[in-house]
Amino acid sequence: MAKVLDSKIPAGPVPEKWKEYKAHQRLVNPKNKLKLDVIVVGTGLAGASAAASLAEMGFNVYNFCIQDSPRRAHSIAAQGGINAAKCYQNDGDSVYRLFYDTVKGGDYRAREANVYRLAEVSNNIIDQCVAQGVPFAREYGGMLANRSFGGAQVSRTFYAKGQTGQQLLLGAYSSLSCQVQAGKVKLFTRYEMEDVVIVDGRARGIIAKNLTTGKLERFSANAVVIATGGYGNTYFLSTNAMGCNCSAAVQCYRKGAMFANPSYVQIHPTCIPVHGDKQSKLTLMSESLRNDGRIWVPKNIEDAKALQAGTKQGWEIPEEDRDYYLERRYPAFGNLVPRDVASRAAKERCDKGFGVNNTGLAVFLDFSESINRLGLDVIMQRYGNLFEMYEEITDVFPGDVANEINGVKYYKPMMIYPAIHYTMGGIWVDYELQTTIPGLFAIGECNFSDHGANRLGASALMQGLADGYFVLPYTIQNYLADQSIWGKISTDLPEFDAAEKAVDAEMDRLLNIKGKRSVDSIHKELGHIMWEYVGMGRTAEGLKTGLKKMHELEKEFDENLFVPGTKEGLNVELDKAIHLRDFFTMGQLVAFDALSRNESCGGHFREEYQTEEGEAKRDDENYFYVGCWEYKGKGVEPELSKEPLEYEAIKVQTRNYKN
Ligand SMILES: Cc1cc2nc3c(=O)[nH]c(=O)nc-3n(C[C@H](O)[C@H](O)[C@H](O)COP(=O)(O)OP(=O)(O)OC[C@H]3O[C@@H](n4cnc5c(N)ncnc54)[C@H](O)[C@@H]3O)c2cc1C
Repeated sequence: MAKVLDSKIPAGPVPEKWKEYKAHQRLVNPKNKLKLDVIVVGTGLAGASAAASLAEMGFNVYNFCIQDSPRRAHSIAAQGGINAAKCYQNDGDSVYRLFYDTVKGGDYRAREANVYRLAEVSNNIIDQCVAQGVPFAREYGGMLANRSFGGAQVSRTFYAKGQTGQQLLLGAYSSLSCQVQAGKVKLFTRYEMEDVVIVDGRARGIIAKNLTTGKLERFSANAVVIATGGYGNTYFLSTNAMGCNCSAAVQCYRKGAMFANPSYVQIHPTCIPVHGDKQSKLTLMSESLRNDGRIWVPKNIEDAKALQAGTKQGWEIPEEDRDYYLERRYPAFGNLVPRDVASRAAKERCDKGFGVNNTGLAVFLDFSESINRLGLDVIMQRYGNLFEMYEEITDVFPGDVANEINGVKYYKPMMIYPAIHYTMGGIWVDYELQTTIPGLFAIGECNFSDHGANRLGASALMQGLADGYFVLPYTIQNYLADQSIWGKISTDLPEFDAAEKAVDAEMDRLLNIKGKRSVDSIHKELGHIMWEYVGMGRTAEGLKTGLKKMHELEKEFDENLFVPGTKEGLNVELDKAIHLRDFFTMGQLVAFDALSRNESCGGHFREEYQTEEGEAKRDDENYFYVGCWEYKGKGVEPELSKEPLEYEAIKVQTRNYKN
């Protein structure tokens, strides 16, 4: 029986909701906070900000991460920036406009009230981070600088060169360290959550593995928060850090937390193209580059063929023979259309044979016009580290002059192609960020979040920090308000015992398969299936084939996997095997959701549902809901429940980036 999900959104016009909600908070009696323990799993921007804030409010926090330092969480990779509606540029920005752009960018599949709250707290995040000393870029006169990201016609992105995630994480880490020093946060680095423990229907703790000794340990708390990131690495090749995995989220899903909108996966248009079959990682070239870089392919197929054969170079093609296809198709937003639109447009050109490298799967990102207009110095100030990173990987420096045609200098363009980057789907949460399991909360990329079917650039950091600094610290108190009656939860309870034994038995099972295939070889094959059948263009038939192939490969995993070593001590292969087991569950979940959603919206593109111009064709009559999936067992189709979406402040319409 499909469940009715209560999103707990208070009634009233959207802009009043968050205010009204805060006014009715049931805050925990300050004396009792000292008795309450909260587990926060994850030290990325969401986890670190939440752990620091909860500790500052008086709770005892146990904070876990798999890296050797919180500063190494995947969030450190974020390059381009973080959005906020400060309107420092005086260009007409406002909280409403950020709210509107985000809902529209998500193809009208986000929860309206949540997005309003996100836009509203966006400005507080910048103030908080500046107070922590985050060195945001500034104008000559001292004001914080801004640049533009896709899906917006204003400049609202705050940045620290191409290292915004790193600087924000250092800020959050300094707050966290303060609380560690004060004794309010106990940090567990190189620990991995292996299961969530449910006692009488509530999340009461976790089983974690000490990754250095291999020992399983039990931790109890009054509430558990997971902030464990997204599931992009299900596709094997992605822009995500190699350590990113979705195991914690899948463990919660298996224990009864619903998983929402898994098919909404973001494919980023500006990544360095795949260059061989030995690759295990793809590199993002920040979206910020689309502020000054122009995307193009040749107009003539002969030029494209020559580029593919290596007999011609991009800089030899004159202006009149270049097709700046985003500017042509979407004059109002040009190169700054949202990611899903830009990615599909690149695929369309390459599928038609206009790709510009030897595989035919690349387009140019060219800075000639902006370097000629602004000078290389200005461009280097904005994107210096990205140019250097591109050169390190490809041996091409995009600031090098390569040719001069009719007095115009042409610089060496970058080559880019779409790649898996971010996951909008995640653990379902209500307005309070609580999952369907009482006492279990999910924040940051691992929840299904505020981005609908497509996330706009620079909005993930905004959401992670909004959740961690400004939303969860309030909302979790509604749950904790009456929890002090329980006192310390014992880890000797039979539920902890059973959970630990099950994790231990599972590790034995994986070690004892003693087959012939490495984890990576199977993961790579899963990635191929995902990209081929559950990737940028999906069809009902392809999704069914993908599911069948995933079942077969999962069988191969269960029967022919080889994990060297033992449970004792450090065993990276065993940890990867556990992640891969969960990527199988996740991959199938993405495919089931994609198969059930007979429409195209945002990052979910079903080829059967497109307009004559190749744009995504939504079906609001039948699919205007959040798809929430309940685990029903290994290899069994999960059960779908629906949370209907309600829009009051924004009129739902077809997305238009053309005029
Ligand atoms: C290359 C790149 C560039 C990006 N640039 C931008 C940008 O410019 N702007 C923007 O807004 N967004 C950007 N993003 C997206 C953004 O960086 C992420 O969405 C965001 O950082 C996720 O933060 P998080 O805290 O939710 O998760 P993460 O940063 O992924 O942190 C996850 C944490 O959980 C821990 N963890 C995971 N599993 C377990 C477990 N089982 N047990 C214990 N701990 C666990 C990890 O150790 C880690 O501490 C970018 C992403 C990439 C890949």
